[in-house]
Amino acid sequence: MASAMEEDTHGPGKRVAVVGAGVSGLAAAYKLKAHGLNVTVFEAEGRAGGKLKSVSKDGLIWDEGANTMTESEMEVRCLLDDLGIRDKQQSPISQTKRYIVRNGIPVLLPTNLIDLFKSNILSAQSKFRIMLEPVLWKKRDSSKLSDAQNVESVGGFFERHFGKEVVDYLVDPFVAGTSAGDPDSLCMRYSFPELWNLEQRFGSIIAGAVRSKFTGRREKSQETKSSLDKKKHQRGSFSFFGGMQTIADRLCKELDRDELKLNSKVLSLSYSHDGKSALENWSVSCSLNSDKHSQGSNFDAVIMAAPLCNVEEMKISKGGQIFPLDFLPQVSYMPLSVIITAFKKANVKRPLEGFGVLVPSKEQQNGLKSLGTLFSSMMFPDRAPSDIHLYTTFIGGSRNKELAKTSTEELKEIVTSDLRQLLGVEGEPLYVNHFYWSKAFPLYGLNYGSVLEAIEKMEENLPGFFYAGNHRGGLSVGKAITSGCSAADLVISYLESSSDDKMKMFKDESSL
Ligand SMILES: Cc1cc2nc3c(=O)[nH]c(=O)nc-3n(C[C@H](O)[C@H](O)[C@H](O)COP(=O)(O)OP(=O)(O)OC[C@H]3O[C@@H](n4cnc5c(N)ncnc54)[C@H](O)[C@@H]3O)c2cc1C
Repeated sequence: MASAMEEDTHGPGKRVAVVGAGVSGLAAAYKLKAHGLNVTVFEAEGRAGGKLKSVSKDGLIWDEGANTMTESEMEVRCLLDDLGIRDKQQSPISQTKRYIVRNGIPVLLPTNLIDLFKSNILSAQSKFRIMLEPVLWKKRDSSKLSDAQNVESVGGFFERHFGKEVVDYLVDPFVAGTSAGDPDSLCMRYSFPELWNLEQRFGSIIAGAVRSKFTGRREKSQETKSSLDKKKHQRGSFSFFGGMQTIADRLCKELDRDELKLNSKVLSLSYSHDGKSALENWSVSCSLNSDKHSQGSNFDAVIMAAPLCNVEEMKISKGGQIFPLDFLPQVSYMPLSVIITAFKKANVKRPLEGFGVLVPSKEQQNGLKSLGTLFSSMMFPDRAPSDIHLYTTFIGGSRNKELAKTSTEELKEIVTSDLRQLLGVEGEPLYVNHFYWSKAFPLYGLNYGSVLEAIEKMEENLPGFFYAGNHRGGLSVGKAITSGCSAADLVISYLESSSDDKMKMFKDESSL
């Protein structure tokens, strides 16, 4: 009997439900399975990947969701190594060449402070202000932080340090390009926690960044060469041959057929615990299609990797009682249209080599309506035939919510007009594809602290329930993977500790 109990504590029989097969849910499932746990991933859609969505059609390959990712997080590096997909990684050509529009014209974005001072992207006044930042900003007593500073906007924070022009021409296009948000609506603390912490520690962002870099280097130089070799990773952004879907597909391959349930929208979750026998479990019910339902039970833990707007719609119960989710605050989501266009190379009179171009809000006064365009086939020449330029343009976000929803025809006109001005395209695109995300990104707004508190409340009140995904810790693919891996780690420790408790209870009973 004792040995049967022992076996149980080490996991092979333990079952975990993962809700959502976006990259966070898939990464969590991969880690749990590698640890010897049984996993079942429930996915509402007929495909896995969530916001990773690559399409291959008519000789073109494009991404309708994330286009690239980075591997600055250790969890991402480990995952790429473990999955054995290093040979599938694809680096963009000239990825350091990125452009920002100023006065209607794309200007090369400087990659360091010296280039910034040489460039004409900012006025002499702003450059002077940047130079003075390390002197003007001294460390403050963080215990004296006011509530207003805790919820300061991204725009307010950067304006304090560098002035309005930096916000308008560097910060605004950057946040639009990475979150579809705007500097005034985003909360600094949650959108850029590293920079927010730099200010807490050093006062000046520039001095803090330099000092952290040196400290990081010193620590690195103390590491052995072999450990550095092990950690060697690709700098900058990358994709995969075939697009970002490749990593999602590779993660799916690790799951058996009955471990990934597509077209299975989770409707309700119920936790039961009879209090005496330490028997506790979760059951999950989902709709298979409009009229069929299915019930899976006896899960020891749940990782919720679906967006909060979907969690709100689920019915959760605990010990036979409804667990009301009315404490979940409303999250704002940014709508976004992704428009793919292809032009004959001969019809692009001023093509730019590099990653892409971002359009600051201010440039709407010069007739530009898009948030930015990625030079998809410049970055990855295998994405289009050699005589074609393929572009990926984003429209909408908090800057232009209504425009995101407009028709393909209207969006085609807008994209063609913007690309005519920026790259000198002539005539109509040879090919157009439009994908609309009604909820592309959650907005880490000024009240986002209450969203994070609500997630914690769910986790605290529902035993064995853990949240993963881009609603906490960052919006990027890398952060979503990290969030999935962290949730898996928490499940593993939770199951080990609950098994230890059961073991203790079993031993106490045996000794009676
Ligand atoms: C247009 C666009 C461009 C982007 N570009 C980049 C980029 O270049 N680089 C970058 O790093 N990041 C980018 N991102 C962000 C990044 O792609 C996402 O933050 C990340 O992929 C989110 O992963 P996730 O697993 O948290 O959530 P999601 O991908 O949203 O996955 C959640 C999954 O849960 C499923 N689900 C929902 N409800 C239920 C239910 N009731 N039952 C079962 N399943 C359910 C959904 O169908 C979905 O598959 C981009 C995002 C978008 C939209």
